[in-house]
Amino acid sequence: MSLNTEWQSRKEKATARGVGVLTQVYAARAENAEIWDAEGKRYIDFAGGIGVLNTGHRHPKVIAAVVAQVGKFTHTCYQVMPYPGYVELAEKLNQLTPGRFPKKTALFSTGAEAIENSVKIARAATGRPGIIAFAGAFHGRTMMAMALTGKVTPYKAGFGPFPPEIYHAPFPIALHGVSVEESIEGINRLFKADIDPKRVAGVIIEPVQGEGGFYVAPPELVRRLRELCDEHGMLLIADEIQSGFARTGKFFAMEHYGIDPDIIVTAKSLAAGFPLSAVTGKAGVMDAAEPGGLGGTYAGNPVSIAAALAVIDVMRDEGLVERANHLGSEIKSLLGRLQKTVPYIAEVRGLGAMIGVEFIDPTNREPDPAFAKMVQAKALEAGLLLLTCGIYSNVIRFLMPLTIQDAVFAEALQILERSIKAAARP
Ligand code: PMP
Repeated sequence: MSLNTEWQSRKEKATARGVGVLTQVYAARAENAEIWDAEGKRYIDFAGGIGVLNTGHRHPKVIAAVVAQVGKFTHTCYQVMPYPGYVELAEKLNQLTPGRFPKKTALFSTGAEAIENSVKIARAATGRPGIIAFAGAFHGRTMMAMALTGKVTPYKAGFGPFPPEIYHAPFPIALHGVSVEESIEGINRLFKADIDPKRVAGVIIEPVQGEGGFYVAPPELVRRLRELCDEHGMLLIADEIQSGFARTGKFFAMEHYGIDPDIIVTAKSLAAGFPLSAVTGKAGVMDAAEPGGLGGTYAGNPVSIAAALAVIDVMRDEGLVERANHLGSEIKSLLGRLQKTVPYIAEVRGLGAMIGVEFIDPTNREPDPAFAKMVQAKALEAGLLLLTCGIYSNVIRFLMPLTIQDAVFAEALQILERSIKAAARP
């Protein structure tokens, strides 16, 4: 039995099947945009641990910062004895996030935990219970984050009941015939049928839907949401857990819109694989919760914070925002060229390096998840790790490290091209 199959059979006996796993090969080591499995096979990593590794695996500056911190202390619990790194990172996030108003930050560990806390903060600040989210959204797997998530299978099925006062509006997707007008009309209908806007604390949106399919929120939607929030005293909450930290060719995706959210939630690439998330928002909003209301034993772990401070330096020093635009345009031009001969490609879209390619069955123009799966399987066989996404699971998304070397990137694009062409062959 090979090492990978041996681990796979032990895994099947020992671990819960609800934790779905994409591959059946086991990681042994990784460097920048490459991972080697237990048997020494190399993979180019276009998944980045689901958008966590914008600065790559084991960036030397991140590792150095982590090692230095481990040599000092690894945990005090910030709520027992605070440390300077927490304050320093809060200052940086307050300054880097969109909006030129006084801001404050609270740190947590996971994306879902930060989402939960953004709702707590919005409720405390407004004294209102309701939250409006979007169909197709993904906000995490804890109870509130799952309630906000707008996709039933596999995220919500069998796990209810969910916390009340969560409402979903349609997310505008031109390709699927949903317009901004319908989306706004959906919200107005909620105000008529389900909840008085005066009881809504906030609207939460991913500026680019991640798990939902890499659909970019149209600027008109974001503008209208800001107006609606201002009109009714609701808070606009941006979930930038997947879109943040240079992925979209700006430090945060909301910068593309020139519209400031009241609260912005970050995680994933913030700390390059060390568990850390943040809620940053208007100072008055962030201070609404009483002392003791926010936090957690591990929230704002000092080792993760050391990683995050190094990540922010690396992003600036290595020009990763510009790099994201370059990588994204290379992917777009390859896929645009392929689209001329491969009728399965319905759309290539995205901001910066947050690019998705959506596949349809050319005979009936229906979403084609089987084609996406086939491309993914062929790429994996050839040593390229790709992720799918989408409400119909028919989209391939690109989340490679922005630090990827040119030669490795070029090799990956060749594998991608071959995999798409091979899947399209009858
Ligand atoms: N929001 C978005 C936009 C995400 O992409 C994710 C993770 N895929 C989450 C929230 C949840 O983050 P976590 O898995 O760290 O709880």
